[in-house]
Amino acid sequence: MVIINAFLLLLISKTCLSQNLDQLFRKINEETGNFSSIAAHLAWESSVNPGNPELPVRAATYQKNRIKWQDRTCSELATLYSRQSLDSIQRRQYYLLCRGPKYTYDETRHTSALYEDLISIYSDAEICIPSDGANISINNPTQVEAAILDYLSNVKQFFNFEHGDPILFAAKIAVNRYFDNRNMLCLKGEEDFDKMMAFSRNGEVLKWLWLSWREKVGPPMKKPYRSLVAIENRAARRNGYSDIGASWRDELEIPQLRKVCHRLHKEVKTLYSLLHGVVRFYLRRFYGEAVPERGPIPAHLLGNLWSQNWEPLADLLLPQTIDLDESIKKMNWTVMHMARRAEDFYQSLGLPAMTETFWRESVFARENNSDTRCHGTAADMFQDGDFRLLYCSGTSKEDFYVLHHELGHIQYYMAYENQPALFRQANTALHETIGDTIMYGVLTPQHLNRLGLINDSLLYTYNSNENNHIDKEFNNIKNGNKQDDEKKQRFKRDTSKAKHTKELDNVLQEFKDPELFEDQKHEINEEDASKDTPKLFEDKDVTTDTIILLKQALNKIPQIPFSLIMDEYRWKYFEGSLKGDNEEFWRMALEWQGIAPPGFRGEEYFDVGAKFHVPDNTPYVRYFLSSFLQHQLFEKLCKASVFGRRSAEEPVPETISLTRCDIYGSKAAGKILKDFMSRGHSQHWSEILEETTGEDYISAEALNRYYEPLYNLLVKFVRAHNVPIGW
Ligand SMILES: [Zn+2]
Repeated sequence: MVIINAFLLLLISKTCLSQNLDQLFRKINEETGNFSSIAAHLAWESSVNPGNPELPVRAATYQKNRIKWQDRTCSELATLYSRQSLDSIQRRQYYLLCRGPKYTYDETRHTSALYEDLISIYSDAEICIPSDGANISINNPTQVEAAILDYLSNVKQFFNFEHGDPILFAAKIAVNRYFDNRNMLCLKGEEDFDKMMAFSRNGEVLKWLWLSWREKVGPPMKKPYRSLVAIENRAARRNGYSDIGASWRDELEIPQLRKVCHRLHKEVKTLYSLLHGVVRFYLRRFYGEAVPERGPIPAHLLGNLWSQNWEPLADLLLPQTIDLDESIKKMNWTVMHMARRAEDFYQSLGLPAMTETFWRESVFARENNSDTRCHGTAADMFQDGDFRLLYCSGTSKEDFYVLHHELGHIQYYMAYENQPALFRQANTALHETIGDTIMYGVLTPQHLNRLGLINDSLLYTYNSNENNHIDKEFNNIKNGNKQDDEKKQRFKRDTSKAKHTKELDNVLQEFKDPELFEDQKHEINEEDASKDTPKLFEDKDVTTDTIILLKQALNKIPQIPFSLIMDEYRWKYFEGSLKGDNEEFWRMALEWQGIAPPGFRGEEYFDVGAKFHVPDNTPYVRYFLSSFLQHQLFEKLCKASVFGRRSAEEPVPETISLTRCDIYGSKAAGKILKDFMSRGHSQHWSEILEETTGEDYISAEALNRYYEPLYNLLVKFVRAHNVPIGW
């Protein structure tokens, strides 16, 4: 009887405790939601209207309350946790709430000021040159390029070569405003600089842009960044981490993240090296000796301010490309058209439309307030249906991509809206994955045709020699049919004489199918380095699909080593294990990306800070991981679309190329996405991945399958023209 009574008492007290705990967690979630909402409004306001004088006071009050609340809550939960009173869901909520660096109030005040310093150095960067009274529009890149050239030639006239490199000198005097001229042409922010980096093909202009940007934003960041990291490290150690990098890595919940990243990088290194070698080959044809035959590619010649996206070089590699920017222009699309089309893609999968608040509150252009900080952001305001986009969009293909990307985040916010507040977030690598996954569907020839961006004849070029529209374009009057045949014959001859280079051997050792390259041990054909630049693809291989795939690869593959360096570098910086900050950055860029800066970069610079996410203090390895995850997810969506059911286990039939997997309208694919996103942070990412895609790990297999047709064409070209690989 006594035993039964004790048992009953225990049962009652356990039930009471669990009821109390339920109540406690309901309250914690409610409070978390309130804090998140205040934080979201503060962040929104500081991006849209950074000069608002009320902001610092509001931010201080928020931080004070939040720290007090969080300290109290976390110590209460720690006690319950150590008594093993929490169930698995509560344990996860406790972990999510209480992990990460633990700041004191003074520290948050100090870090807020430092963030503000850093981000304003970056966002407000403006560099002006005299423009001699000419009325130059910053939106006319031809005019801007001419003005820069003019400026450079003026500087050179007065240049004393004791000053060293004239272009660097021209960058320094522009950045330090050593001239006073009423007519100035000003490039403002990363948008203006990157636009010109993508446009110009003048080595000196590119070098000036590249140097000026780094001259302007890097050096002033050095000191505040170091102070910021010192505080962050202290706060991270207070919560048991060795440094802030360890805390960043913990956020991703991948044990031995560094090892995993290195493994993934290795799995794509062959593809990257092939692309790198071929791009270098064409850049050398264009820029001559400025580009080495075998060494690293000069970073400023890759079509992008950070060398992370080489798509603007596509026309150097292909005599005829598909220019989606042009198509968009011809269609007269506005930013609103593009946003509506992005929304439509998600809706076609059965996902919800954007909310009324979204259309009312989002900012799509710089509009009246020119101070607005425009780097693309999707915001969850933690209030009913209040999700917003901040992106000063143009109407290029890249803008179309960013809109899909950001809407992917908003779809995520909407999908987990009904989770408790602590689960209204997700693993950041998964969060970055949705929009990019969708983009593989958008960039199928079928969808581009549906959007009116490519015409019917381009739609049907796949694997077809006859009626091949692009073939026809290539076989135009210039070549004539006969000449074309001769070229084909010569190409065949050259191919059979090509040599399997040593460098390629080294790279390809890692590739799983080395026999692909046997029978290639022939003599070098000296004449092969011939007068005209060889075509990347044989005519029969030039299809809409291969062009789109090459452009995708140029856009996406260079991001992979770049995104790894951004965090590997910072992890080392946080640990204090770098020897020479800037030097080490370029050592890593050389090793992983095979690129080199135009000229010596000493320790007075801080070149990593030339990328937004450093002053913004956002971890970057999430994008690296997403590069792989988006292919895993896309392949799963592709299968669901092909078979019409979400649980299809069969592989995608060989007759359906992944680059032609038109997922638009597939409700089965939409169900997978909904399931994937609606779980938010309620489970470990690997469980979510396994339960929705059948794989609980991140791998490069799907990515390599996607690019396989291009891989084979690149290998063929490298063999045929004896293109050096490696650096
Ligand atoms: Zn994103």
